[in-house]
Amino acid sequence: MPDLTPYARSTVRLHPRRGTPGIRESHIGGPLWWPADEPWPDCAEHKDVNGKPQGPYPLVAIAQLTAADFPEAPFLPGTDLVQLLWCPEWHDQPHPEGWGQLCQLVWRRASDVTEPLADQPDPEEHWVYDEDMLPRPCVLRPERAVEYPWVEELADALREQLDEDHYRDTSVLSGWKLGGSMGWATTDMPSSLECGVCGQPLALFLQFDTYEDTDSEEDREPTGMTVGRASHAGLFICSADPTHPPSFFTQ
Ligand SMILES: [Zn+2]
Ligand SMILES: [Zn+2]
Repeated sequence: MPDLTPYARSTVRLHPRRGTPGIRESHIGGPLWWPADEPWPDCAEHKDVNGKPQGPYPLVAIAQLTAADFPEAPFLPGTDLVQLLWCPEWHDQPHPEGWGQLCQLVWRRASDVTEPLADQPDPEEHWVYDEDMLPRPCVLRPERAVEYPWVEELADALREQLDEDHYRDTSVLSGWKLGGSMGWATTDMPSSLECGVCGQPLALFLQFDTYEDTDSEEDREPTGMTVGRASHAGLFICSADPTHPPSFFTQ
């Protein structure tokens, strides 16, 4: 369908595979290239059944991506490394309203880290693999791909020309990926996808998925993370200023 051509978007499938990533490499769930003299971020939103504050608990390293591997990521000038951490428990989040992961996205210049933090928090000390939003360490095999927006993003006239069921199944890629489009089959697409700070459009930064689309049984659930009801989620960032707080949407 030639009318779809202008809608083509590129994405980078991460193809995570269980492994032992290096501290400076792009990866999911492994050690971060984190300065020894910078405090590790934590979550102070936990209470016991009586409302008594618990913790704070260290955030968990979710992903680290380098500009060398992912030049298409919206790196701020002078940065070449982005790190994502979150609290693996669900919390009330301000934007979008509802449950989500309290995320911290850190953009830095790798060469600014002269001495990396050797003793990084062990996720298993506070959280449980396979129950929490806690990925096992994985190495990545990036693959560039073209996909098309979720059907609700298309103009009505174009939608009428489509076999919608077929389009839904084939336009948007599943699995962990950087950029591109997210599928909204469960909730329908939010009517506005806007930054909670400045109101500019949000763009998909990272998609997290329970399953990878692969024939290999071993690589089907490499991160061991169950996202929502065994579906996927997306971390969106502000298209005008990637330092504005990211927004987390679950399917
Ligand atoms: Zn927390
Ligand atoms: Zn913004």
